[in-house]
Amino acid sequence: MGLDLGRLAGEPTIAALIERSNRLGADKRVTNFAGGNTSAKLTLPDPLTGEPTRVLAVKGSGGDLGTMTVRGLALLDLDRMRALEAVHAGGVHEDDIVGYYELCRFGPGGPAPSIDTPLHGFVAQDHVDHLHPDSMIAIAAAADSERLTGECYGDDVGWLPWKRPGFELGLALRDFQRRSPAARGVILEGHGMMCWADTSEACEALSLELIATAERFLAARGEGDGFGAARPDHSALPDAERAARVADLAPVVRGIASRDRPMVGSFTDAPVVLDYLASEAAPRLAALGTSCPDHFLRTKVRPLYLDLPATASVDEQVARLGELHGEYRDGYRDYYATYADDASPAMRGADPVIVLVPGVGMWSFGPDAQTARVAGEFYINAINVMRGAESLSSYRPIDDGEKFRIEYWELEERKLRLRPPAPALQGRVALVTGAASGIGRATAELLAELGACVVVADLDGDGAEKVAAELGLERSLGVATDVSDEASVEAAFAAAAARFGGVDLAVNNAGFASASPLVDTTVADWERLHAVLARGSFLVSRAAARQMIAAGTGGDIVYIVSKNAVFAGPRNVAYSAAKADQAHQVRLLAAELGEHGIRVNAVNPDGVVQGSGIFQGEWLQQRAETYGVAPEDLGKYYAGRTLLRREVLPEHVAAAVAVLVGGELSRTTGFTIPVDSGVAAAFLR
Ligand SMILES: [Zn+2]
Repeated sequence: MGLDLGRLAGEPTIAALIERSNRLGADKRVTNFAGGNTSAKLTLPDPLTGEPTRVLAVKGSGGDLGTMTVRGLALLDLDRMRALEAVHAGGVHEDDIVGYYELCRFGPGGPAPSIDTPLHGFVAQDHVDHLHPDSMIAIAAAADSERLTGECYGDDVGWLPWKRPGFELGLALRDFQRRSPAARGVILEGHGMMCWADTSEACEALSLELIATAERFLAARGEGDGFGAARPDHSALPDAERAARVADLAPVVRGIASRDRPMVGSFTDAPVVLDYLASEAAPRLAALGTSCPDHFLRTKVRPLYLDLPATASVDEQVARLGELHGEYRDGYRDYYATYADDASPAMRGADPVIVLVPGVGMWSFGPDAQTARVAGEFYINAINVMRGAESLSSYRPIDDGEKFRIEYWELEERKLRLRPPAPALQGRVALVTGAASGIGRATAELLAELGACVVVADLDGDGAEKVAAELGLERSLGVATDVSDEASVEAAFAAAAARFGGVDLAVNNAGFASASPLVDTTVADWERLHAVLARGSFLVSRAAARQMIAAGTGGDIVYIVSKNAVFAGPRNVAYSAAKADQAHQVRLLAAELGEHGIRVNAVNPDGVVQGSGIFQGEWLQQRAETYGVAPEDLGKYYAGRTLLRREVLPEHVAAAVAVLVGGELSRTTGFTIPVDSGVAAAFLR
């Protein structure tokens, strides 16, 4: 055995390790997302010789304990891994030891062994947990961490001074065990905990026991809630006022986080966040930054804290955020310049990832929705740690130089370089109207595939939610929207602001069609078509432009117009005139919004029958009758009169939208792409 994953998963020690890891990783009090690792040592037959071999099975690089499977385990020949001590003693830097783990693999394949591998390999016992529980990091990040560890655990748990995870920390742990054979675990200063046992059950029970002991210690010894008195003028705004403030500030805050590259926002106003922001201690603690190594890889070295009371006006907040953003960027560049050396990776952008607004809540950012949410979860971990540490003594994270060594660690940089290139629309947030079916749906699907978060807006709210669910609810949102109604459009954009921080890509696609001879066209027909097509796209473009201008990072507005905007066909005056209105909005807005970096372009489709929302019911009948064909043959009829003789499908229109917004046409605005298989009478000139 040994190499067969199925058989390996059935091996009792491995099965127990996976189950223990999943249980521990499921509880955020035990360890943060993708933080910590677990291991087991066992004897397996060498796949080649059959010789019994001591094997270290340890969570590989990058995985999450809560969802780990056997595929997430790195398997190493334990004796060969321990033999690396001689390599290190011979002068190889501990960062370069990581490359030697490849030579210690037990069998081929599996994830890359993580930098924490020696923390497990040098512990004598077979079962080892390394976790980042908030309660124990509170002790680990307190100013008198060593004394507090002794008071909390006696001789049961030791204490090791801060050392960046790696080979030397593994050796320090082994030496600690030799000095203190009775200890069952250690607190790692400024980082987390480790513990060990002879069985998997005992190790899991010990982890939970040590965490519970720390929680009891904090409850018994902690004074007050750790954050001092609440400042009434910094406490949470009433719910409705807070929601309105979120809608106003979100695009501004997202613009701050996106100066260097587009970022998706995540927002929370959980009580733990609002209470922290209301406290006297918040400005001082925010400036100290986060502590656990995992934390500042996710949250950057420190957050941007808005130093204004909740009672300040939106204008005051926006003005101050702008000043603080400038200071943050300067400060971050100084931090980089102070600690970087010739070997350091290039600076990865100077914008904050966490933005704190007293009375309102916390925004966190990332290139995609999950990364943004997880960054926020990590800052909540940091809040819990700071509260605990402050209630015991005072919070003292590792110093900035050490933080820099983690944030710009060459090993982390190598991981980043191995990632596939970012998709074209990563970090972008799109809102597509009429996206529950047809062209809108195909567009929403393609934009999501290209990496955008997508707000699926449609008159049919259930349909919108269904499409959003198919795209994935982490990265999309379904909103019932009547584009002809001002309040409904504003609500859709407010929802986009609350969820993702605002929109930088809007697609005006919603519409319907109805045709009749001039003499039979009613005022109601005329008004309805103009309300949805002309007024609807005006309202959507206005709301989109307001968010884009507030963010200050540009954006795209795309109109799905129609061949009929330029082609004069019979019995179609209301629809085609409203489409011509849309077509001229494209030119007008391109001219007006260019100074804000907002590009406004259009697609003129024609003859899209299949999958189309508008080609259902009476319009299909009317058009089929107009051309004297059966309804089911209408698509083919349209194809037959084109130059290319090809039917136009929703995905062909979506592809044109993707070309307009994907970055290749970054110097193009006020432009219209026909997607009609070639209709000479509708050529643009
Ligand atoms: Zn760790």
